[in-house]
Amino acid sequence: MDNNQTVRILTLSDQIVDRIYSKYIRNMFPNIDLIISCGDLPYYYLEYILDMLNVPMLFVHGNHDPEVEISAHGTRKHPWGAVNMHGKSLNHKGLLIVGFEGSIRYSHHRHQYSQNQVWVQVISMVPRLLWNRVTHGRYLDVLMTHSPAFGLGDRPDRAHVGFKAYRWLIETFKPRYHIHGHIHIYDRNDCQPLKHEETIVMNTCDYKQVEIAVRGKND
Ligand SMILES: [Zn+2]
Repeated sequence: MDNNQTVRILTLSDQIVDRIYSKYIRNMFPNIDLIISCGDLPYYYLEYILDMLNVPMLFVHGNHDPEVEISAHGTRKHPWGAVNMHGKSLNHKGLLIVGFEGSIRYSHHRHQYSQNQVWVQVISMVPRLLWNRVTHGRYLDVLMTHSPAFGLGDRPDRAHVGFKAYRWLIETFKPRYHIHGHIHIYDRNDCQPLKHEETIVMNTCDYKQVEIAVRGKND
């Protein structure tokens, strides 16, 4: 593996950006390798971006995603052509990416979970993380979720509190990045990444670009 290789990622969540959903999209993002969507976006919007940029898209559902989206573009339960990362670990060109969907349970809508349910999801991922460590020398590079982790970019109100299991995963397995959505910030200047131990925590807000170096086994 070339240790200088990087993966250029466009991250998305929560808010439609008119300029992205337009003919200008290719000029905005001429060199993207991968799209990561962290939920709460219409499927037709994601499909438009996927078609226009023509690179792989990984997604997790947000708590506002419908069971079925009916639009002028057809009927579907998820964005066509994108990979659902909930409860999965994927090696994308040397980047080890793990995903979880949903938010804290606060209503009867889909894709909402209790803290205990998410503990089960995260603990179920541990054997895979250990296997990554054996085969790649590290547990994971990127954690992608809809919800933030508890105390790391979340909010105290009952709809926006983060998951404690994610925080445990971050502190135990030390991904380089946690990319999440769910927390709406209306001024992009207020949407700066934060660092927690060895992890950069990024709220995608509406969109962000990040370039992540691929590490060899012994890095
Ligand atoms: Zn949300």
